[in-house]
Amino acid sequence: MTDGARAATSPGRTPHEAATHCPYCALQCGMLLSERDGRIEVLPRDFPTNRGGLCQKGWTAAELLDHPERLTTPLLRGPDGRLAPATWAEAYARIVTGIRDTQAAHGRDAVAIFGGGGLTNEKAYALGRFARVALRTRMIDYNGRFCMSSAAAAGMRAFGIDRGLPFPLADLGRADTLLLVGANPAETMPPLARYLTEQRERGGRLIVVDPRVTATARLADLHLQPLPGTDLAVANALLHIALTEGWVDREYVAARTEGFDAVRRIAAGWWPARAERLSGVPVADLEEAARALGTARTAIILTARGAEQHAKGVDTVSAFVNLALALGLPGRPGSGYGCLTGQGNGQGGREHGQKADQLPGYRRIDDPAARAHVAAIWGVHPDELPGPGVSAYELLDMLGTPTGPRTLLVFGSNPVVSAPRAARVERRLRDLDLLVVADFLLSETAALADVVLPTAQWAEEDGTMTNLEGRVLRRRALREPPSGVRTDLRVLADLTTALTPPALPAARSAPAAEVVAGDPSYRFLPSRGPLQPPDAAPDAAADGADPRAVFAELRRASAGGVADYAGVTWERIDAADGVFWPCPDEDGPDTPRLFADRFATPSGRARFHPVEHRPAAEEVCDEYPLYLTTGRVLAQYQSGTQTRRVDALRRAAPEPFVELHPDLAARLGVEEGDELRVASRRGEMRAPARITATIRPDTLFAPFHWGGAGRVNSVTNDALDPVSRMPEFKVCAVRVERVTP
Ligand code: SF4
Repeated sequence: MTDGARAATSPGRTPHEAATHCPYCALQCGMLLSERDGRIEVLPRDFPTNRGGLCQKGWTAAELLDHPERLTTPLLRGPDGRLAPATWAEAYARIVTGIRDTQAAHGRDAVAIFGGGGLTNEKAYALGRFARVALRTRMIDYNGRFCMSSAAAAGMRAFGIDRGLPFPLADLGRADTLLLVGANPAETMPPLARYLTEQRERGGRLIVVDPRVTATARLADLHLQPLPGTDLAVANALLHIALTEGWVDREYVAARTEGFDAVRRIAAGWWPARAERLSGVPVADLEEAARALGTARTAIILTARGAEQHAKGVDTVSAFVNLALALGLPGRPGSGYGCLTGQGNGQGGREHGQKADQLPGYRRIDDPAARAHVAAIWGVHPDELPGPGVSAYELLDMLGTPTGPRTLLVFGSNPVVSAPRAARVERRLRDLDLLVVADFLLSETAALADVVLPTAQWAEEDGTMTNLEGRVLRRRALREPPSGVRTDLRVLADLTTALTPPALPAARSAPAAEVVAGDPSYRFLPSRGPLQPPDAAPDAAADGADPRAVFAELRRASAGGVADYAGVTWERIDAADGVFWPCPDEDGPDTPRLFADRFATPSGRARFHPVEHRPAAEEVCDEYPLYLTTGRVLAQYQSGTQTRRVDALRRAAPEPFVELHPDLAARLGVEEGDELRVASRRGEMRAPARITATIRPDTLFAPFHWGGAGRVNSVTNDALDPVSRMPEFKVCAVRVERVTP
């Protein structure tokens, strides 16, 4: 058995099957993995969210398990500047020495952690604990900051809780009116599109707000196509019309909310013609959308990255939340506001401590009561826990600078491709004294690392994920990791052991000069054993690498928090197709629907927030006369580390491209397939032209799944939202030209 070994928890039909979930997006489609003669097949599985459906990414997910580029041994950068195979002992020694040297010379915060929204709940939790207890650094954040942070912040300030959908996905199919803002699920989550079809077949109205005519917009009854960065004005105008027409639910506003007057005053100034001038959305379309929402028996408003990835993303989401509250939607059966989360564990990944300002259970790290609760679980004094760190981009932008971290450990992320202003981030990574990347493929970020740790894939590990509905799911292993590969939890446990100072003579359970678990060749440090309260006996969580034990600890740490998992057990998930948090009691109910009686604010009322439109951080000018917006394509996922290596997906979406309108193409003398150079104040990218009338004539679109010359994040803006610290991926000013051969 390898050191990534697991308890057998695969309830497939035979020992060679595992009922699990897709490794990619937040829909977390249920699937069955079946192994025959060493070949793994993905089979459909009826699960409440995807009902047997999978997209092409899900169907092909197993292809990477035995991929020839799979990493199966640690890599160390040698004196010749090349990465070369090494033993785990050598890799750990380099990491531990680097961490110690860095912290001795520059302080604890000189070592940083960068996590990911695809990590299981157990890993996200363990990563936060590792940073705060083993490293005692405040410098930890994760790439979810680039995805959902604006909706999370807006949800917290309005409802006192941040759960992507406060109702099960199936409610979408029953809404009389469904408004999708900056969401393209027909391409990013195809199985979800069946709910849109269902909704329309029942006579419902689907309205899409998007600067592009996306696959989802083509399904819609009404498509509003605003200029990038003007969604907030559209929302305020919709509220203006609702007020004028008497569609505001005054009884609901009076009984269940607070702060409406300030919002009403702002909305009064957003007469539709003003919003049309700014956004380009015709008054008639605004009126039709407002009527569809305001007169519907049930209505749901959903936002996604298109509305959220802006330097005013929190305010934009708040504007749509204000609209939903004014119409009396949240908490009403069949109605509400929600956010479509993006990454696989985008929801759970932001609940359990890998965010700079957070402790497990969605607790704030600056809350003394939260610190005391979590410190007791971790066996440390509350004063030993570091305070809040900085957000993801700010952390990346500090790397290698005189005041920033000098050692970085990356788990489940590829910021060289996914961060804004990526060329600068790449330079920062190169300036580090030590970069460690744990991954199962050599991503663009891993290729820069001093140490690369080969880690297990989704079908080789147990754990839990929390999908876009707040439903906690079981990831179940089909088989063990290949020889030489370790799980992230194993790596964190090993490093914790290696970094832990020797025990005092009086301490119990402190064997001297321990062997690092799972690697008999490695003797690095004496250990004081597991992270336990000094007077607690070691238990099953002792090793720190067993996901079931880590989850048990996570449950205790989250108990009483906003995201309370105390009553969630793996057995309960198995028995019930998942468990919706909050679920504080093992014998009590879970919470598929929130807000029926009260909101999670101190007063129990939802809070309106007055928000005004403001321009994008960077507007067009003579030198940069076009807008650029970014997004995804059906056959690729996030930074593409995985999906670019899957044959069928590579064939379907082989390379980056730049979409431009035929009128613009004609003006520039550009033909289909011509190589384009797109430049902003921060950098440039090159990719072939794709001419399409689905984009506005004043806007370019490029997907963000590729590195190298086609990396659109070389161009994007690193302006940050003042609340969520979300970068402005969705709009910046650029110029474009044809590259002459
Ligand atoms: S990528 Fe998303 S939509 Fe596609 S199969 Fe996986 S979970 Fe489902």
